[in-house]
Amino acid sequence: LSLFLFHFSATVTTMTERIQINPQIPDAAVLARAAKILRDGGLVAFPTETVYGLGAHALDIAAVRKIFAAKERPSWDPLIIHVGNLAAAVALTRKIPPFFEALTTEFWPGPLTLVVEKSPKVPDEVTSGRKTVAIRMPAHPVAHALLEAANLPIAAPSANKFGRPSPTTAAHVLEDLQNGVDLVLDAGPTTLGVESTVLDLTQNPPKILRPGGVTRENLAKILGEVEVARGVSAEIEREGALAPGMTEKHYAPRAQVELFEANLHDCAARMRSRAEQLQRDGKRVGLITRADDWERFARELFAKLRELDAQKVEVILCELPPAEGIGLAIRDRLLRAAGKSEL
Ligand code: AMP
Ligand code: MG
Repeated sequence: LSLFLFHFSATVTTMTERIQINPQIPDAAVLARAAKILRDGGLVAFPTETVYGLGAHALDIAAVRKIFAAKERPSWDPLIIHVGNLAAAVALTRKIPPFFEALTTEFWPGPLTLVVEKSPKVPDEVTSGRKTVAIRMPAHPVAHALLEAANLPIAAPSANKFGRPSPTTAAHVLEDLQNGVDLVLDAGPTTLGVESTVLDLTQNPPKILRPGGVTRENLAKILGEVEVARGVSAEIEREGALAPGMTEKHYAPRAQVELFEANLHDCAARMRSRAEQLQRDGKRVGLITRADDWERFARELFAKLRELDAQKVEVILCELPPAEGIGLAIRDRLLRAAGKSEL
């Protein structure tokens, strides 16, 4: 018995601590603790306006490696570095590209990630060996205050297991990441619900690598026409390798996902008859439809996918928005959740 107990206690790992924090006026003592963990090379999950991020000191290689381990993220998928001010962003870049000033003035802080040539001080571990680095200044008061308190650039991908729907609550973070995360700052659900737009400024004209919180239409006001990367096949051709974030099956629940174009007039009827057919075949079916606007749909989408998984649904039937405004980002996530590049 004593041997058994010894064995048992030896395999217990440290629990992740979860602390509630006011999303508008974050507590300074809590932030100071989180900042110390980051300075000491630990991992802190924190809210941003898009989704929860899993943060580490971006210039500390050992800390950055812990992110990949906790997420089970492949080393070829680079991380976004979060900064609290413009000077911190400039310090990470080798050369300021065209449009950088205009875009940061208009959209920072906010859900726009800019890919620029990296300064030599950015570790290869962060950029997966690339010569470029992705940088963003988040708008969430907790993220902003944490960056100020830590006074560090923070590498922070979404705080989910690789391939799973991104976390929009602290509970989602804890569901996916039980080991290796020192602290989760719980400020309630995030407001946007989809990730940042990733814009490559090293190409001319700049190209959207991942549609997100800042719409293509709003970027076009500054850039003129802006292209969207065509997905995995085009990027493999261009780079001769799998480009980051472009794996086909991503943001995926365990259930199989089937999509229905919302702007086809018989969308609701087609979803209903498909659901009935699946139920006749003995399948557990879940439906995701738009209650009011697509912004709300975006905010709640990842939580709904996780909820339906928890209910052991086998097939999810989901409405697909037109490719405009926030709809472009939603389409991208849903097509990947369904394991498709086009419908
Ligand atoms: P996540 O923060 O989990 O949403 O993932 C970060 C994503 O940002 C990656 O999957 C890429 O799509 C993108 N990204 C990060 N760094 C780069 C880079 N240097 N070049 C191109 N895309 C990048
Ligand atoms: Mg992610």
